[in-house]
Amino acid sequence: MKDILSMTLPELQSAVQELHEPKYRAAQIYHWLHVRKATDFAQMTDLSSALRTKLQSEFCIKRLFAARRLASSMDDTVKYLYRLPDGQHVETVLMHYQHGWRLCISTQVGCRMGCRFCASAIAGYVRNLEASEMLLQIDETERDAGISISGLVLMGIGEPLDNFRNVMQFLELLSDQKGRNMSLRHVTVSTCGIVPRIRELADRRTGLTLAVSLHNPDNAGRSQLMPVNRRYPLPELLEACQYYFAKTGRRVTYEYAVMEGENDSPQDAGKLADLLKHQQAHVNLIPVNAVKERAFHADRQAAQRFMQYLEKMGVHATVRRTLGSDIDAACGQLRHETESDAEKREE
Ligand code: SAH
Repeated sequence: MKDILSMTLPELQSAVQELHEPKYRAAQIYHWLHVRKATDFAQMTDLSSALRTKLQSEFCIKRLFAARRLASSMDDTVKYLYRLPDGQHVETVLMHYQHGWRLCISTQVGCRMGCRFCASAIAGYVRNLEASEMLLQIDETERDAGISISGLVLMGIGEPLDNFRNVMQFLELLSDQKGRNMSLRHVTVSTCGIVPRIRELADRRTGLTLAVSLHNPDNAGRSQLMPVNRRYPLPELLEACQYYFAKTGRRVTYEYAVMEGENDSPQDAGKLADLLKHQQAHVNLIPVNAVKERAFHADRQAAQRFMQYLEKMGVHATVRRTLGSDIDAACGQLRHETESDAEKREE
């Protein structure tokens, strides 16, 4: 059955015409799905019951099921582990900011980028998410929490630019004025640095913010930490970021997980400042989240120390607020634990 929530309006129009229905029906259905957020064809009361039955036999409206829901007792952060229709799991995190609610969504089940500090890499790659499964992380969370989000980050499990086609389809559906009408200015896409896709994204001028996970200012050091750097080395990555800024006028944000003894020395700060000197860059520092299987660690003080080194060299940096630290918001950990528990049960 066709996944109707992943279809754009023109795609829905052709599908409806194939069913020998007038084209305008597609707009009605699309409105029900993307504006009124219908979860069942039975709710589409301005369609004949014959048509609703026909739609039901051709299409499915996917849902996600919250297998776990962890609410922080320290702040308003809520972490969801969603079960997808095929039984796989992804994580979604809802965070409260001064200006509203921000949601962090996953783009793949697992990840194949293999960053050495990341829990998603340990749990392994399974598949890409469909556009509908990204939209549903928003819808199900908004329904559950009774809120509506004002910002979105693609920083959960997966590498968004490794699922380029579906992520672009998702962004098209999200920003469509006839549908959800969310401005992509409120959306951030985070990448480990897939250079050709960064350039393609720049050419599309979507208006979204690009965040690049840098984590190490030394080319050889970065290759040790992030295998993607062997394919797309730092100089090429930085050039692509400058291209992004030149094409879109949007400042690129750099993510830097501070790891004690690994990337937090004054020399590292110096190299980083050197790397970014031709850009109006902003660096987001975060103390690395300790992952059970890996030895990396850092506390807030280490991140603040590194920020001071950078500030002295004229680089703008902030230490990101750590939200929901009591619910282990380190991305990929919940899925990883669930999968390894399932394996244990099967043994
Ligand atoms: N694949 C994308 C987006 C998902 S990861 C990317 O690499 O940007 C989201 C962010 O969390 C990235 O900056 C990633 O490097 C970072 N991250 C992963 N594991 C982490 C950990 N253990 N501690 C701190 N940040 C981590």
